[in-house]
Amino acid sequence: IIFGEHIVKSFGEGDEQRNVLDGVSVEINEGEFVSVMGPSGSGKSTLMFALSGTDCVTSGKVLFEGEDLSAVSENELSDIRRNKIGFVFQQPTMLKNLNIIDNIILPSMRDNRKNVVKISEKARNLMKRVGIAELENRDITQVSGGQLQRAGICRAIMNNPKIIFGDEPTGALNSKSAEEIMDIFSDITAEGTAVMLVTHDAKVAARTERIMFMRDGKIVSELKLPKFDGKNIENRVEEVTVKMR
Ligand code: ATP
Ligand code: MG
Repeated sequence: IIFGEHIVKSFGEGDEQRNVLDGVSVEINEGEFVSVMGPSGSGKSTLMFALSGTDCVTSGKVLFEGEDLSAVSENELSDIRRNKIGFVFQQPTMLKNLNIIDNIILPSMRDNRKNVVKISEKARNLMKRVGIAELENRDITQVSGGQLQRAGICRAIMNNPKIIFGDEPTGALNSKSAEEIMDIFSDITAEGTAVMLVTHDAKVAARTERIMFMRDGKIVSELKLPKFDGKNIENRVEEVTVKMR
């Protein structure tokens, strides 16, 4: 669904100019569960912003379902980003004066004011699925980090996106919550939505099927693993750790 071809992204001008992405080619297929690892500053977030059309690329191409993101109109781009792509960050940005469910439905309401009943129904189903059904009317300031992240995931999948990008989505969570969040992502991919996570955590990466390792704006290696079936996580983590060096 996403195909990045020789992406270059540079910042700065003249002598100061640097290629933060230095010719990255990457393909992400339907329902694929992938992760990106690499040292701080290697370009992981920049890659995510390029692939999601958040930032334009300096050269190279990003095709989303065959459409060149740098060639589509402003309207088409925002349409793709709103309806086909979901984002999850380390700390979900939620509005403090709204309860959980209102935060989840807010982006969908912007498009479709009339269907508030349907939209709320959908949000409730998603909340049930990720185990926060009972928190519907809870104040956003009165839930745990893990619960907040579940709400963030619900918000990201409200529109049935083709892909979810997660930048350190488990970075602020304890390991048990992180595992539970990874189970949710895994379920999502089983339904055909691709998930691409940036993580520093080998345990998180080890649950995905393909890990790309970045260094200095390039993908320097890749590790493919079978779909995680709940077994042998230690071996998988070991494989990731060896490859990271
Ligand atoms: P981290 O693990 O710390 O999040 P990262 O791999 O996500 O790191 P990026 O955020 O992609 O790294 O940044 C890569 C490099 O690009 C860094 O050196 C950063 O300073 C630089 N950079 C990112 N955004 C900009 C910008 N808007 N202007 C100038 N330089 C930038
Ligand atoms: Mg980053």
